[in-house]
Amino acid sequence: MTADTQPTYPLTKAQVDEIALVHEADTSELEGRLKELSETCQSTCATGFSKCATHQNEMRKLYQDAYTAASPGRWTSYRPAEYNNDLKKMFDAQATIEKINDRARREKMQHIKDSQCTFGLSDHATVKNTKIRAAELHGSGTSSADIDSYIIEESEKLLSTLTPEQQEFQAEYDKSKSEAEKYAYLRTIACATKPTDTPRDVELKLKWTKLFDNKAPYNDILSVMEKDIADAKSNALILENRLADLRNAQAANNKAKAAKEESKRKQARDAIRRCCSEGCGSVCELNGPNADLGCERCFGMKEEGALQNYSWFCSPECAKTNAGSHNARFHST
Ligand SMILES: [Zn+2]
Ligand SMILES: [Zn+2]
Ligand SMILES: [Zn+2]
Repeated sequence: MTADTQPTYPLTKAQVDEIALVHEADTSELEGRLKELSETCQSTCATGFSKCATHQNEMRKLYQDAYTAASPGRWTSYRPAEYNNDLKKMFDAQATIEKINDRARREKMQHIKDSQCTFGLSDHATVKNTKIRAAELHGSGTSSADIDSYIIEESEKLLSTLTPEQQEFQAEYDKSKSEAEKYAYLRTIACATKPTDTPRDVELKLKWTKLFDNKAPYNDILSVMEKDIADAKSNALILENRLADLRNAQAANNKAKAAKEESKRKQARDAIRRCCSEGCGSVCELNGPNADLGCERCFGMKEEGALQNYSWFCSPECAKTNAGSHNARFHST
């Protein structure tokens, strides 16, 4: 089963038109031959057409040829092989033409339903909804004319919402007459890369391209693609959740960091320099001429790592009067 030999639903507009033309021609040819046959019978046989075994057999032959003729462009070429086998069995078993006609009518209805309701690769979500609704209408015994006008109405509504580019795409697809053309179009839609593609998109498109290259049946490709897209969506969801977790963790981390920095700043603000002179304990100025007034030797030791804290004086007077006792306490050796 390859794309070249197995026609698939949904049909393009061009395919629908072609099928209608061929069907009309087939029907009028069959009707012409049946008319001719019954006229021949009436003018040559005495029994009457409905009772004439010879011409009734010829009539069956005409129906059989018309119903089982296999050629592209006929609606029957879209049907599964079971249908043709059924017809052959019915003709072989001498089923009445009424029964055979009834079987053909039912299959034709199914063909119309399949062509109107089968999802396509490039179907817009709205188109899919319309197809679901159309299938319901088919199931509820709504007349073909009503279903047709429902579908036409919906597709006109949709068309008016499409961008010019999308309309152009749709028009191209509608024009595809052969399965090969339709296949090529669907391939373009499914596999053409876009600048916004993720690495995963690129990977999937390569995979689908291979399926098209191998001429896998369109319906098989469609189900693979639908599964891949669903998987990609659930992967994207998992990734999205992971990213959300990461973002939350990062936010918590940032908050903790900000709180720590704020507490450091607060500590620095609260740090008060007290004069190191014994019995003084005044608060030292942080700005102005007396700021940074401290013991030079303590500074040196602090730089060398031998001291934890600087020693500050509150005023030059305090420094002058207390340098001696300070040195005696801290720098006597
Ligand atoms: Zn006859
Ligand atoms: Zn000192
Ligand atoms: Zn002081």
